[in-house]
Amino acid sequence: MPNLYIDGHWTSGSAGTAPVVNPYDASVVTEVDQAGTDDVDRAVAAARAAFDSGPWRATTAGERGAILGRIAEMLQRDKEKIARTETLDTGKTLAESRIDVDDVTAVFRYYSGLADKDAGRVVDTGNADVVARVVHEPVGVCALITPWNYPLLQLSWKVAPAIAAGNTMVIKPSEVTPLTSITLVELCEEAGIPPGVVNILLGDGPSVGAPLTSHPDVDMVSFTGGLSTGQAIIRASAETVKRTAVELGGKNPNIVFADTDLELAVDYVMLAVFLHSGQVCSAGARLIVEESIADAVVDEVVRRASYIRQGNGLDDGVEVGPLVSAAHLAKIEDFVASARAEGATIRCGGTRPDDPSLKNGFFFLPTVITDVTRDMRVIREETFGPLLTVERFTTEAEAIELGNDTHYGLAGAVFTQDMGRAHRVSSALRHGTVWINDFHPYFPGAEWGGMGRSGNGRELGPTGLAEYQEIKHVWNNTAPEPQRWFSGTPAS
Ligand code: NAD
Repeated sequence: MPNLYIDGHWTSGSAGTAPVVNPYDASVVTEVDQAGTDDVDRAVAAARAAFDSGPWRATTAGERGAILGRIAEMLQRDKEKIARTETLDTGKTLAESRIDVDDVTAVFRYYSGLADKDAGRVVDTGNADVVARVVHEPVGVCALITPWNYPLLQLSWKVAPAIAAGNTMVIKPSEVTPLTSITLVELCEEAGIPPGVVNILLGDGPSVGAPLTSHPDVDMVSFTGGLSTGQAIIRASAETVKRTAVELGGKNPNIVFADTDLELAVDYVMLAVFLHSGQVCSAGARLIVEESIADAVVDEVVRRASYIRQGNGLDDGVEVGPLVSAAHLAKIEDFVASARAEGATIRCGGTRPDDPSLKNGFFFLPTVITDVTRDMRVIREETFGPLLTVERFTTEAEAIELGNDTHYGLAGAVFTQDMGRAHRVSSALRHGTVWINDFHPYFPGAEWGGMGRSGNGRELGPTGLAEYQEIKHVWNNTAPEPQRWFSGTPAS
């Protein structure tokens, strides 16, 4: 079956096909169709027509909520198949992929419930002849552009609220991991969404993403991905003054005070940074640890890092998979080389594994880097790999200062038993999410997004729905009288 979906038809693209590669062994999983510029125009035209006329605009919010509920059921019905596909595509473990499908289901259920709960409000003007309403309307045609680390999950944070609000959309998943996005569109079709409402194009950023962001008939771009791409998208959107919602990278501090139980600290430091080989936007890549326990924590993390079981995400007992691509592996190797060149110490890892069974895949060993300074590239830039850097502090103020010393502002954590300190530090951190004695959890009802260069929007929660809504004020004067502002007579 062809892989592009435009105006209710599965179709091949005009730009041939491209391989989808399994990061575990570099084998080709399948070939998928690639969209050309003409396909971009066709998909946008279909989304435009479905928005401007046709049955979609006549649906009630409750009906759209019911559709989301049906998609949630189907996700659970097909959970195992979808999870296996996600693992083949990304290399992550099957256990993680199953959690992703459950999380995605929860997001669809959340917006299914929220869809008809907020129709706007009536405003008291003090004038009984006037009915003033503030109503929520869909934005229009949305381009939804997503990354490769959580392909289905990141897409669900956009598709579910976009549908709930009544928009039409063109999806552009990462060219590296397109498979479960195709599956989600199949489920949208099965759930009865009319032709033209949900469309999907496959292809790379320059050929498919860029023309979407500058297209005059696209009203909004919702993007999750890297900082430089986000900047390019905001620039490209400026010409047509599109609404942009960008969710970008992070350089996330994990602040551990000395009163934290050592076992707990070590366990969470490892979870924070090595989950999914560090390819998590909220990865706790910067350990900021109190001097008096720093040696003990680092020694134990180094010891345990060498036991992390890498392998095929489909196999039982594997704890982490590979990096997503050869290009990303090269980027991680480059970060380690630059840290070495700038004088840091590589305490463990720092290379690809010796294990011959992993030699074809894009594996990199969990790596701990000490003796860093704040100006090093490995501290300033998002690495998005299994690299943990270690910085030390002696006072609370110093910990906060280090935690905020980044252009990013996505997420951070503080570990301490002193709840007063926990609240002081969490208030002072300029990050969109702060965990206290935890790392990574998120919840569909709570907003997710970044401060600073981590983004300009919020996904999830009520704000994640509002991103896909226009707000309109309708003023209805039921007893108009001439105002006689202008006399309507010649000046004497
Ligand atoms: P990326 O920016 O390279 O690509 C993301 C998407 O943008 C892909 O679909 C790509 O094809 C497309 N794209 C590339 N150039 C484009 C252009 N000029 N115009 C339009 N689209 C274009 O990011 P990636 O490597 O796929 O993902 C990793 C990044 O995503 C990391 O920085 C990570 O932190 C970030 N991320 C952020 C969040 C969050 O919630 N803030 C979540 C997941 C990932």
